[in-house]
Amino acid sequence: MSDTIFGKIIRREVPADIVFENDDVLAFRDLNPQAPVHVLFIPKQAVASLDAAGTEHAELLGKLLLATAEYARAEGLAEPGYRTVINCNEAGGQTVYHLHVHLLAGRQMTWPPG
Ligand code: AMP
Repeated sequence: MSDTIFGKIIRREVPADIVFENDDVLAFRDLNPQAPVHVLFIPKQAVASLDAAGTEHAELLGKLLLATAEYARAEGLAEPGYRTVINCNEAGGQTVYHLHVHLLAGRQMTWPPG
């Protein structure tokens, strides 16, 4: 896949407000937050989208979601609750083609999403 702004953040070529990191996952605050807490979780190994993920990425996807939940728990967000979102491809609203999980919290979420 081609490089994205998120690849540059992983390599520390552009600044980001990094809030979590382990061997496989990096998380940083969204530049344009849609909730009081809006953090993006990305795999360090680039995958363009959820649609581009295959069985070879199964462990990585698990680690990505578990890192998100771990952070939410540590930040006291699991109770009252939070939302996770993965936008996929154009109609899904994806704008950066490096798979990422949005973690949104700090307000009551509504349904359906826009
Ligand atoms: P998506 O539309 O699901 O692909 O989400 C991409 C997200 O990345 C958007 O919410 C953007 O606000 C966010 N974003 C883009 N560039 C940056 C950046 N340099 N640092 C932090 N967040 C970014």
